[in-house]
Amino acid sequence: MTPKVAIIGAGFGGLCMAIRLERAGIGSYTVFEKAGDLGGTWRDNGYPGAGCDIPSHLYSYSFEKYASWTRRYPGQPEILKYLHHCADKYGVRRKIRFATEITAADFDGSRWHLTTEGGRSEAFDVVVMGVGQLNRPRLPDIPGMREFEGTSFHSARWNHEHDLTGGRVAVIGNGSSAAQFVPHVAERAERLELFQRTPNWVIPKPDATFAPAARLAFRYLPGLQRAYREWIFRYAENTLYPALAQGWSRELLRKRALAHLHAQVADPSLRAKLTPGYPAGCKRVIIDSAFYPALCRPNVDVVTDRIVRITPKGVRTAESSYEVDTIIYATGFRSTEFLAPMRVTGRGGRDLAEQWADGAEAYLGISAPNFPNLFLLYGPNTNLGHNSIVFMIECQVNHIMACLPHLSRGGRLEVRPEVMAAWRARLDASMARMVWGGCQSWYKTAEGRVTNNWPGPATLYRRLTARPPRRAYRQV
Ligand code: NAP
Repeated sequence: MTPKVAIIGAGFGGLCMAIRLERAGIGSYTVFEKAGDLGGTWRDNGYPGAGCDIPSHLYSYSFEKYASWTRRYPGQPEILKYLHHCADKYGVRRKIRFATEITAADFDGSRWHLTTEGGRSEAFDVVVMGVGQLNRPRLPDIPGMREFEGTSFHSARWNHEHDLTGGRVAVIGNGSSAAQFVPHVAERAERLELFQRTPNWVIPKPDATFAPAARLAFRYLPGLQRAYREWIFRYAENTLYPALAQGWSRELLRKRALAHLHAQVADPSLRAKLTPGYPAGCKRVIIDSAFYPALCRPNVDVVTDRIVRITPKGVRTAESSYEVDTIIYATGFRSTEFLAPMRVTGRGGRDLAEQWADGAEAYLGISAPNFPNLFLLYGPNTNLGHNSIVFMIECQVNHIMACLPHLSRGGRLEVRPEVMAAWRARLDASMARMVWGGCQSWYKTAEGRVTNNWPGPATLYRRLTARPPRRAYRQV
């Protein structure tokens, strides 16, 4: 008897899990999706200029290579189209229950009971969480935000009805999201004030469209597409990863970013504002070629004074006041609150949020002690600063698929506590050599524990997740 599987979330992770089950002939699964459409972060982040700074041919499933990518780096509409294509091609769309938010998952000692927002409950043998790390926008806590009389919104909830043309716009935050939409807003707005708390390291994005001949070659020469994908993957592993691990390319990354800044920003005072004072890679490096030129426009100003208040008319800093019509919060996500706001209770009524009070953790980022048959996709310590998350998701799905034969006929697998302890020690040891200690970022809890990033090469993660699960887990 195949287990009954619930998948929560229909983004890259949830869809991958569903497709793999479908391909294995296991039809006893349901995908729960809180929104009315699939796509996860690529459905939510529809701001102008949204896209991915990982090349298209790598930012896709290995089993569904796609010859139709029009650019080297995919834009959000194209990624969303790809996900729809996958859902339809593999027949998983019919298994998605849209507009159905799961608010609680409770283990009764033998099965999981999922509760929907509407109060309905359904039992499953296995639960796979595919809710992502960057799914809940984080608004800052600045006094007076509610008093603002203009229009305001978060970058991941873009207000497409609101016309920015000719208006005065404040953008708070300067991470990867802001870097992508600021050039578009700067072209339309009369004035744009970018409020920067900490500068970021930026390297160029060598984007280009694929000529029709190249696309034809990718279509008819699958070996070419495989080789191209492998080349991008190896480059990320062998050049970018060592920079994050403070290895041979660390200085190269810093110099490349500084050269980019010097090439694109002529004004020395602006350059000084944009020069970070922490190691490159500590926060997510921005890969973009249009951000700096936008900041050099005469209608754009980079404000580095501390914001003290949002007023009815705009933004007040320690030094000055700025009247604006629109405030765009590009302030990131509640990245360390994994699975929130869902309540998850495991064996013996154990609450997962309580178990994770000092920071989320899971063996391979996939399984937590006391929570049998509960698996996470893109869970704790599986984010990358150098390579494709889709690769990591596929490794996780491979691991879960390897667990499934042990879960038929009422089997319940739980990671052994001693395996989890060894995993934690291994992570701590590897974390010590990574660059992330030198600044605050969305990779860390407020207390400074890195809960989001994987501190090794992606190939190591593939090897570890490929191990047979028998030794790490016990039947409960
Ligand atoms: P983010 O990187 O977390 O950036 C948030 C920004 O808001 C930072 O500049 C932060 O400043 C600022 N901020 C937060 N609270 C503030 C406050 N109270 N006052 C002033 N400034 C404040 O968020 P994001 O840009 O949305 O990007 C999140 C992640 O999404 C990225 O790192 C990346 O992994 C992913 N992403 C990827 C792509 C891609 O192309 N692959 C594109 C977009 C996003 P501090 O730095 O000082 O904290």
